[in-house]
Amino acid sequence: MFNRSDNATATLRTSRQDLLDQLRGRGISDEAVLKAIAKIPREEFVPTAFRHRAWEDGALPISCNQTISQPFTVAFQSQLLEATSGMNVLEIGTGSGYQAAVLWALGLRVFTIERHADLLSQARQRLDAIGCNVAMRVADGTVGWSAFAPFDRIIVTAGAPAAPPALLKQLAPNGRMVIPIGDKATQRMKVFIRQQDSEQFDELDHGDFKFVPLIGREGWEKE
Ligand code: SAH
Repeated sequence: MFNRSDNATATLRTSRQDLLDQLRGRGISDEAVLKAIAKIPREEFVPTAFRHRAWEDGALPISCNQTISQPFTVAFQSQLLEATSGMNVLEIGTGSGYQAAVLWALGLRVFTIERHADLLSQARQRLDAIGCNVAMRVADGTVGWSAFAPFDRIIVTAGAPAAPPALLKQLAPNGRMVIPIGDKATQRMKVFIRQQDSEQFDELDHGDFKFVPLIGREGWEKE
């Protein structure tokens, strides 16, 4: 017989497999990304009251009026990065720390910035608890992290009015930035690819998404 906690573990395990099947069904085909999602215990990144829903494909509330992104969105942005193990990646918008953990599980060197100090300290505790080694700071991420630039990859997990020039500048040659751009209600998922020998960028569009706003010097003004 299962006791209650075994039962809970078994439920989480089934829902983990269900989620992976759903992500495949929605076009996530990068096996490394699927493996990284399977590896990170999402239940550690959501408030206790929502633990039983951690493996549903939905966004959930975290502190400071922010959200942990939907697993599909995390998988989709991770897949668009086209990153390979050992690359360095800058994330803007640490939030719960879940996306940072998934990037770490992909074998990347992760740098992440969050504007809310209390979110960052909670994220730090969760990442430490599961052994993810990620560099983090509290700051306005719209100006990047020049001390560690250039970055092979940049991922922005809040909705921006436009591509922040400082972030484009901190991209390495052939680097890619994945960023939702639009108004405060909805955004289009954009990928900027820096050309090898110039400061020119190719730009791709990957459809509609809905993020909380990116607030900062090169983002939206605080309300
Ligand atoms: N990646 C997160 C989801 C983040 S929600 C996760 O996996 O849980 C977006 C986050 O971006 C919020 O926590 C918000 O506080 C943060 N944010 C918004 N503007 C920011 C800025 N200019 N710099 C850093 N973080 C910012």
